[in-house]
Amino acid sequence: MSDRVESVRFRRYAVPLPSPVNDAKVATGRQRPLSRIDVLTCEVTTADGLGGLGFSYTTRAGTPAQYAHAKEVGERLLGQDPSDVGKVYDLLLWAGASVGRSGAATQAISAVDVALWDLKAKRAGLPLAKLLGSFRDVVRTYNTSGGYLQAPIEEVKARATQSIESGVGGIKIKVGQPDMREDLRRLAAVREHLGEEVPLMVDANQQWDRHSALRFGRAVEELGLVWIEEPLDAYDAEGHARLADALDTPIATGEMLSSVPDLVRLIDLRACDVLQPDVPRAGGITPYLKVAALADHAGLQVAPHFVMEIHVHLAAAHPRDSWVEHIEWLSPLFNERLTIEGGRMRVPDRPGLGLSVADEAAAWRLDAVEFRAAGG
Ligand SMILES: [Mg+2]
Repeated sequence: MSDRVESVRFRRYAVPLPSPVNDAKVATGRQRPLSRIDVLTCEVTTADGLGGLGFSYTTRAGTPAQYAHAKEVGERLLGQDPSDVGKVYDLLLWAGASVGRSGAATQAISAVDVALWDLKAKRAGLPLAKLLGSFRDVVRTYNTSGGYLQAPIEEVKARATQSIESGVGGIKIKVGQPDMREDLRRLAAVREHLGEEVPLMVDANQQWDRHSALRFGRAVEELGLVWIEEPLDAYDAEGHARLADALDTPIATGEMLSSVPDLVRLIDLRACDVLQPDVPRAGGITPYLKVAALADHAGLQVAPHFVMEIHVHLAAAHPRDSWVEHIEWLSPLFNERLTIEGGRMRVPDRPGLGLSVADEAAAWRLDAVEFRAAGG
């Protein structure tokens, strides 16, 4: 019943966006426009002839560090039984213990962890959602990629219509600009354009202080938003908790946090109504499952951030029906596309994650390294 890892391959890609996007971090001058997603992939093969594919990602900086860390600890995988995901995760964690259990170190391990879960589900002949235990075959999905700040409002409205017509169930737009009145104008225009029925969210990408966030929250209370996302600095758990207490509109956050303890702090302080963990950023599916279980126990919603290709499975396997973020930026990296209709994204019925890297991705590849077991 046991198998062993025969080879591990890491690759680094820079996947270009169709055009650069700005969120509030760009509007406040803290970051440059986002023009590409950097991806670290991990491919594992075993003595039984199975293969697993996982990936991690960064925006703007960090994937070279992830790749370097993966290269240092990745060889430890050889000869391990890939079914023992938690044990292998711990092995890699201890191999790199000197750089801690968060950030780039665990994000590098994340690519491996996702590959091992993919492999485990393939071995069982099940989609990952089914391996974990699925609650639904389709998950609610909302679009984010059409609502960035560099887009004039007419373009945001047109993209929103396009999304809804293509089957997406909700729309999120970016806010958090230095002039809050401009945020309110854009939000009112989108609400009027879409009507009352379409679920609508906003995302301030951490750019308000506590007073501004409260002021904005009170100003939009009547709009019935699904949530206000990242109103405050990602690490201001107390501030989020106060805001969540003060407002009827749900507060969402968690996408920037890169460790289990940081995410659990949000849960412990009831700092949000909707927790938004991100598998690659939080260190993989293994830590994500811990956090999601604790969030559910605390009565919070879980709406994973970005990477719909992985999160569609995890949202399906989560007791509470929530939302998966529709951002199509990583789609060109893979051969497969997700099916969306009636406001929901269908969980792929292929074994594992149901993903394979497209041949065209070779054009965006920056680095590759492979480890093989002796005689393997
Ligand atoms: Mg966000």
